[in-house]
Amino acid sequence: MSDGFTSSAATRFLRYVTFDTQSDEQSGSYPSTEKQLVLLRRLADELKEMGIADTTIDQYGYVMATIPATPGKEQVPVIGFVAHVDTSPEVSGAGVKPIVHTNYDGRDLVLPDDASMVLREADNPELAEQRGNDIITASGLTLLGSDDKSGVAEVMAAAEYLMAHPDIPHGPIRVGFTPDEEIGRGTQYFDVNRFGARFAYTLDGAKRGELEFENFSADAMTIAFKGFNAHPGYAKGRMVSAIKLASEFVHRLPRNGLSPETTDGYDGFVHPHAIQGGVERATIKLLLRDFTSKGLDDKARMLTDLAEEVVRPFPAGSVEIERRESYRNMKEVLDRYPEVIAHAKTAMTRAGLTPFFRQIRGGTDGARLSFMGLPTPNLFAGEHNIHSRLEWTSVQDMDKAVEVIVEICRSWTEGQG
Ligand SMILES: [Zn+2]
Repeated sequence: MSDGFTSSAATRFLRYVTFDTQSDEQSGSYPSTEKQLVLLRRLADELKEMGIADTTIDQYGYVMATIPATPGKEQVPVIGFVAHVDTSPEVSGAGVKPIVHTNYDGRDLVLPDDASMVLREADNPELAEQRGNDIITASGLTLLGSDDKSGVAEVMAAAEYLMAHPDIPHGPIRVGFTPDEEIGRGTQYFDVNRFGARFAYTLDGAKRGELEFENFSADAMTIAFKGFNAHPGYAKGRMVSAIKLASEFVHRLPRNGLSPETTDGYDGFVHPHAIQGGVERATIKLLLRDFTSKGLDDKARMLTDLAEEVVRPFPAGSVEIERRESYRNMKEVLDRYPEVIAHAKTAMTRAGLTPFFRQIRGGTDGARLSFMGLPTPNLFAGEHNIHSRLEWTSVQDMDKAVEVIVEICRSWTEGQG
C-alpha cells in the first residue's frame, strides 16, 4: 500500500486532528460535547462521497455505514470496524497543529511550541522500531489525538480502499464511529441490532501487531461505617467514631500487593479512591479489578471480612457494604468465538506482522460491546503516549493498520481463519 504523503490514512489523520473533539465527563448531554458532532457529521459526509449510500448519523452522533459485499459473498458474516472520535478530557485538544517528522533517524524531536516537550528514543523505546518511518506529533501545547483519530483515519482509508477495489472479495462490512469513549460512555446508546454486525474490531490500540482480547473485570464497592456520636466531653464508653473505623480499615489493607501501585500484568487489585465522613458515618469507595470473576469475588470477600472484623469489637458500630458491577473481561465472550481472533492473526501475518497479545488493565468499548452481543477485540492503531502532549503515531503504522483491516475482510471470506 502507499506510504509517506500519499498515505490516505495519514492525509485523513492530519485533517481529523484539527477538529477539537474533547469529551467532558461533567456534561449531562449525549454526546457530552457538541463539537464531537462536527467531526462525526464530516465523517458521514465523506462516507457518502465514497459512494456508501446507506450512511447514517443518529441523534446520539453514532455514524454507521455499510460497504456492500462483493458479488457472491453476501452470506459471509457481517464484520464491523469501530473507532471513537473523542479525545481525553485530561489534555487540551483545541488548535492541534500536527507535525510530520519525515524519515525518523533516532534524533530528538523537539516540539516547537514548547521546547521542554522533547520526544527522545531513550524515554520511548518503541521509537527505535520506527527508524526510517514518518512520525507525527503535535506542536507541544496539546495532545495529538492519535487516540483514536488514528483508528478513525484507518477505518476511513480502508473503506475508501475497499470501495475502490471491488476485486478484493469481502462480505458485508459495517463501519461505526462513536463519541464519548474517553469518559466511559461510548457504547451507552450504541444500537447493536441496528449496527447489524456479527463480530467487530475496534481500532484503538498501540504498537503494530498488537491484538487485545482480554481486559479487567471490574466492580465498584462502597463500604459505609456507622458509628455512634456523643458529646465528646461525656463520651467515655459510648462514642464509636466512624472516622476511626474507616481509617482502621484502610490501614489494614494489604501493603505488599493487591494495590495499583504494586501490581501489573495479570495481577488484580483493590483501590480505595475516595473517602468521606464524620463520627456518625464514614464512607470509603473502592475499585476492584481482576482478570477473572472468581478473582473479583475473592477480593470482595476479603474486603467484606476485613470491614466486619474492624467493627466487631464495637456493638454500637456497624457496616453496610454495597457492590456494583462495572464491566467484565471480554475474553469470557471471545473464548466462544475463536475465529474472531484467528482471522485477525491471519490478517496480521499476511500484512507481514507478528501478532502479539496484551492484556488491557482497564475497560474498553469493545468489552462493553462484547457483552452487548457484539464480540469485539481491539487492534493496534499506532497510538503512543496517549493522553499526553508527547503523543505520537507513525504514517507507516497507520498504513499497516489499513492493510490489516483489508486482510481481515478478505480472510472472513475464506472460512474459519
Ligand atoms: Zn482510545
